[in-house]
Amino acid sequence: MDQPTPLNILSQVFGYDSFRGPQRDIVEHVIAGGDALVLMPTGGGKSLCYQIPAIVRQNAGHGVTIVVSPLIALMHDQVGALHEAGVSAAFLNSTQTFEESSALEKQLLRAELTLLYAAPERINTPRMKDLLRSLNQRGKLSLFAIDEAHCVSQWGHDFRPEYRSLSLLHEMFPDVPRMALTATADALTRQDMVERLKLETAREFVSSFDRPNIRYTIVEKTDATRQLLRFIETEHAAEAGIVYCQSRKRVEEVAGMLQAAGLKAMAYHAGLDSSLRQQRQDQFLRDDAMIMVATIAFGMGIDKPDVRFVAHLDMPKNIEGYYQETGRAGRDGLSADAWMTYGLQDVVNQRRMIDTSEAASEEFKQAMRGKLDALLSLAESTHCRRASLLSYFGEELKSKSENSKNENSNDLSGAKTTSAQALNKLEIEPITGGSALHEVKSVGVNESSDGPPQASSAPSGGSALHEVKSVGVNESSDGPPRASSAPSGGSALHEVKSVGVNNYFCGNCDNCLFPPAVWDATEAARKMLSCIYRVHQASGISFGAGHLMDILRGKTTEKVLQYGHERLSTFGIGTDVGETQWRAVLRQLITKDMVRVDTEAFNTLQLLPEARQVLKGLATVLLREQIASSSTPGKRTKT
Ligand code: ADP
Ligand code: ZN
Repeated sequence: MDQPTPLNILSQVFGYDSFRGPQRDIVEHVIAGGDALVLMPTGGGKSLCYQIPAIVRQNAGHGVTIVVSPLIALMHDQVGALHEAGVSAAFLNSTQTFEESSALEKQLLRAELTLLYAAPERINTPRMKDLLRSLNQRGKLSLFAIDEAHCVSQWGHDFRPEYRSLSLLHEMFPDVPRMALTATADALTRQDMVERLKLETAREFVSSFDRPNIRYTIVEKTDATRQLLRFIETEHAAEAGIVYCQSRKRVEEVAGMLQAAGLKAMAYHAGLDSSLRQQRQDQFLRDDAMIMVATIAFGMGIDKPDVRFVAHLDMPKNIEGYYQETGRAGRDGLSADAWMTYGLQDVVNQRRMIDTSEAASEEFKQAMRGKLDALLSLAESTHCRRASLLSYFGEELKSKSENSKNENSNDLSGAKTTSAQALNKLEIEPITGGSALHEVKSVGVNESSDGPPQASSAPSGGSALHEVKSVGVNESSDGPPRASSAPSGGSALHEVKSVGVNNYFCGNCDNCLFPPAVWDATEAARKMLSCIYRVHQASGISFGAGHLMDILRGKTTEKVLQYGHERLSTFGIGTDVGETQWRAVLRQLITKDMVRVDTEAFNTLQLLPEARQVLKGLATVLLREQIASSSTPGKRTKT
């Protein structure tokens, strides 16, 4: 009798009638013995990409597929689901007794299992290696599937050292096909992942990372907890959501605050007892109106389809983290919100964490600063958030809308289109296979050439293009040498800014729905920079943001008088600009690498060479206006 085809298995075993996106290509490639790198957003259907090949290859006599996964809970769920579907699968982990694991090992050696799930540290044990070797000698080691593969990269947001040892798989079993799967990886992480896992010759399958049902909103922090409360009460009353905070202490505070306001909320962080964490997680999964206030310890592997919002009360470290965390909203495809507040203090805190981290090399710190800057630039952007976000992952959204002719991002005509219309115009090209990077290359980065001169478009279109191009892991011939994509502070930032996102209209983010007014802050920026310069010149030391703003706004504080700063030519030249705006100017200058916050010297501000651009009148600084007033972008009519 003929062996069942992948499609037969899809329908008979899993009960689905068609493959989704690139699944079919991936499955066929892997069944044929090819290596693969699969980048697919959360909920995209990665599991079937190795489960179906595992079944087909087992039927064909190739033996067992080993799935490497970092999460016990996830292994548990997947194996349970496979059993229900009648597939022989098991996991090996630390929760099992010696007897249980010995029994499983025997089953493994007889190659009776189709899939075996194990954590990377387990794979790395001598005992496990012996088992795998023995299987392989008899031709019964079919495939390695490495899930959450970004964990191998220290540039990623979820580095797990145990993943490092997985590069051994290639050396030990060069003939066994391997696939790596992840829902998040920017250019730097992707390249690192490929190198670490020795997947240079693997075929890349990159799906669209767009999540059209998620509405992105990023607001400036004024009174974060009140803003959050207002957001939840007006947009998501009695709905399930996750609120991410930076610290355990803050998690507890915010959960308490929400409870005091009469909302159903729980705290979750690594400082809680594991049984309490489990209990709260289960409760969250069951309840359709529970708010989980958590550190990033919460979320990986949580598959709750009806999370209606993910809020960030503090800014995450980078865009990958932001994307991953916001991606937990709306997995059921219904409308959901990704809402974030951020402020100057977030920038300063994150910078400090990077600057003072002892374990890290300078190269690493530079990379992390670059990633932070990219997130900041997303936050400060006046353009479509979705387009900016996706361009960071090397993806271009194409819009046939007439808005693309409008060079000015402030043009309001876009806002007249309803979001439904706009979404219909959205034409996402799923990027598949090795061609992904070639497609990225063709992105028109010069679209904005005759738009308003932006301080942010400092790098020329061409250079950004090269940067994007240089991430091409399969492309060593004409790309710039590796060094160019080595972590430099600005590279990630440039990627976000430059890949033709300026005219995109998604219709489902704050900037598209409520285009922010833009004010020309060039003069203010110049005043700020001159002030930093003068103060340092006059006093021989640097000062922090508060003091500089006092000088600009002409306040004769004790400190101002103590240093005689009321006599500076820059004293009182900035009374026309409010404090909120000064902070925005400053954030922008920090983001643009014109000003450095010395976190080791009382957060004092120092000029960087790039500041000359503005001082000499060669660059313009455009800022969002009164971003603070738009804490809630208006009520959405639910469909
Ligand atoms: P990921 O691991 O990429 O987050 P999963 O593998 O958990 O995603 O799949 C997400 C959901 O989509 C699961 O409920 C899965 O059963 C479903 N799914 C996957 N592929 C298909 C398909 N071809 N047709 C219908 N549903 C699918
Ligand atoms: Zn948008």
